[in-house]
Parts: sequence; C-alpha cells; structure tokens
Amino acid sequence: MDTQSLNEAFFNFLTASPTPFHAVSAMAERFRSHGFIPLREQENWQLSPGNSYFVVREDGALIAFSLGSESPAAAGFRILGAHSDSPSLQIKPRPDARNQQLHQLGVEIYGGALLSPWFDRPLSIAGRVSCRIGDTLQTLLLDFRQPLLIIPSLAIHLDRKANSNRSINAQLHMVPIISHMISETFPDFKAILKDQIAREYPEKNAAEILGFDMFCYDWQPPCLLGLNNDFISAGRLDNLLSCFVGMQAMLEARGTGSRMFICNNHEETGSMSATGAQGSFPLATLERIIPDVQSRQISLSRSFFISMDNAHGGHPNFTDKADPLHTILLNHGPVIKINANQRYATSSFSKAVFQLLADEVQVKTQEFVMRNDMACGSTIGPLIASRLGVPTVDVGAPSLAMHSIRELTGSSDPSFLHRIILHFLNREHLPGEKR
Ligand code: ZN
Repeated sequence: MDTQSLNEAFFNFLTASPTPFHAVSAMAERFRSHGFIPLREQENWQLSPGNSYFVVREDGALIAFSLGSESPAAAGFRILGAHSDSPSLQIKPRPDARNQQLHQLGVEIYGGALLSPWFDRPLSIAGRVSCRIGDTLQTLLLDFRQPLLIIPSLAIHLDRKANSNRSINAQLHMVPIISHMISETFPDFKAILKDQIAREYPEKNAAEILGFDMFCYDWQPPCLLGLNNDFISAGRLDNLLSCFVGMQAMLEARGTGSRMFICNNHEETGSMSATGAQGSFPLATLERIIPDVQSRQISLSRSFFISMDNAHGGHPNFTDKADPLHTILLNHGPVIKINANQRYATSSFSKAVFQLLADEVQVKTQEFVMRNDMACGSTIGPLIASRLGVPTVDVGAPSLAMHSIRELTGSSDPSFLHRIILHFLNREHLPGEKR
C-alpha cells in the first residue's frame, strides 16, 4: 500500500475510533471482513492451522492471531503489541452542573493528559452506555459526531500573568459547557444520552441508562499539514497509529509462520486492569492456543515481540529537552526506545533484530534514550515481556505534543513503521532466531 492510501485508511480509522471501545469495534470489523474468525472467551475454541482468529475482551482490548502451517508450539509467534487508549476527559457519573445559566458536564482526567490544549476547542462526546432495554441489559457504543462542548479560557484581561504563570486546577477549570439554559428545566446528561441512543439505534428504546463510559474528544478531524503535506495533525496518534499499523500488517501478512497482535487498554493509567497489559488477556489467550505448558514455553522461547508506542521527536523550540546525542526527527523512520533501567524492554539483541528487518526494507531507524536529568516514561513492552518471557523491542513512530488533544507525526512515519512490521510478519525466519 502506498503512503497516501495508507494515510487515508489511517485517517478513516482515527475518525471511527474516538474511544478505545470504538477502536476495538473498528478493528474487529476489519478483521471479520478479512476472514478472521471471531472467538468468544465464554466458549470452547476449536482452532486449526492456517486459520486466523480474533477475540475481544469487552472493555477496549482485542487479540488477533493467525496460525501458521507449522505448529505454533514448534515455531513460536511473531507478536505485535499496542494500546487502544489515549489521555482524555471522561464524563463523571453525575456530571450535570449549572452555573451562570450554563449547563456544564463534570469530567475526570483520564491518563496523563496535557490539559492546556483542551481549552477553546470544539469537543464532541463518544463512548458506551449500559442500559435496560425491555428485560435485557445491553451495552451500546455512541458517538455524537458533532461539536457539543467547549472549555473557554479565562480572558487575559482577567489574568494578566496568563502567559507566564497560569496553572490549571483540573477540578475547577476543566468543566466543559454543553448548553445555555434558557428555562429552569433542562435535559440532564442521561436524557441527552437517551436521545442519542434513539438517533443511532432507532430500533432500540432504552428504558433506563444504568451506566456509561463517555469521553470528550477533539471534534476536528485528522489532517495532513505543512507546505508539502509533511505532517499528520490528529488526536489519539498515541497510540492509534500503532493499533492501525498492527491491524493493517496482520490483514496483509502472507508469511507461513504464526503471528499475533495484542491490543491492550488502560496503558495511559498504568495497564493494571483486566484488559491492560498487566492483566491476564495475552497469557490466557496463549494458554488456549497452546494448552500444554512445555509446548507453550518452547513456543514463547522461540517468539519475538515488537511493542509499538509513539516516541518523542526532538522539539525545535525545546532542544534542551532531548539528549543531544540522540536527536529524533519526524519523517526519519521508526524510533527504537532504549532505557538502562528497563523502562523499555529493548535489548542489544532485540534492537539488532529490528534494525536488520528495517535494513531489509530500506527504512532508516533512530535510537531514543531519555536525558539522565529527566524521568523516562514507559509502555507495554516491559509489562508483556516480563509476563511472557519473550525477547522484546520497544519501538514507535516519532511524534510531537504527545498527550495533547492533538498530536503531530510525520506523514511518512506510519508508512515507515508499517513496512518493517509487515516484513517482520512475512519473513520466513527471523534474524538470529533460536530453533
Ligand atoms: Zn502510548
């Protein structure tokens, strides 16, 4: 797939995926339409070599896998990983507030969101609701797809130090406005959700909304940007870029080996959940594919894991925030992330494997280390590596403004990563493979 078509498909995926639940639903749809067989955790699995499958754990996680002609117990898996969530504002259970004749919705901060970019921006709402319909309890995805909310800044006239010294109180200052209350009675948030259910699911008449996980998101769609369309500007690049590349490579792969794509939720809050990378989902799935312990351990010892999550590019206005020997450039190839203290799972061996794969498809790579005087982030790589015991490399597309409502990456960066990942899945034997 050429860079332009890949970016178009990526933008469609981003637009369809305002929340982890939507991202997983969009991925499940793509896998299903490409012949992957849906599995349910609640049922027995009958798996056969040569077939492809996917399983969704309801709460924003998905694992897809293809079984090669050689038994995975003997040959191992090529494993990809990414996370489905992004920092956001999640609407509180009882959000309705009234102030200055304005109806506002209280929000919690989800993950390590950079708060200032959320101001003065048209926001929409999406997520899922659990409701009583007849005598059943049903969970429905909702996406308003319209500008509904805004968090206005405080004018500079009322805070003359705003440009040098404004701090944000997340409880007081981050409360979006949804409407102007002309009358005393106004629809509360549950009534607004009920109306949206009627619009998106006209056949369903929700009797009562019992719970919801609703998030605010940037209403502006993704776009190419720059004089030569040099960049991609979009929300949720971290980490839907990696989800998209992983999904796309799984759909296109034609290699004879077994392969797996693990997409976890809750990375932005520490991965400790039933669907997070610290949860049971990856190992539970592998246990069902290879029930015998000896065979599973042999398989895992012959497997290799590429953990994908975006990396920090060098910021032209903050050059002192990057290690001067490890400058990362947009549009210059995927970043291999290295940390002496195992915040990333990359080793010299796993790095070499990734670099060899990149060389073979003529894509450059870059090496990131955090400065010693700044704290290093982490990702799903070390979590899954420590649970599965698989050689792992942490990589990602270079980006700026990570955890802003709108992030920036190079317009060639999804394509560079995709080329290496597809080659990883297709290559008959891995460089340095232990058999
Ligand atoms: Zn991430």
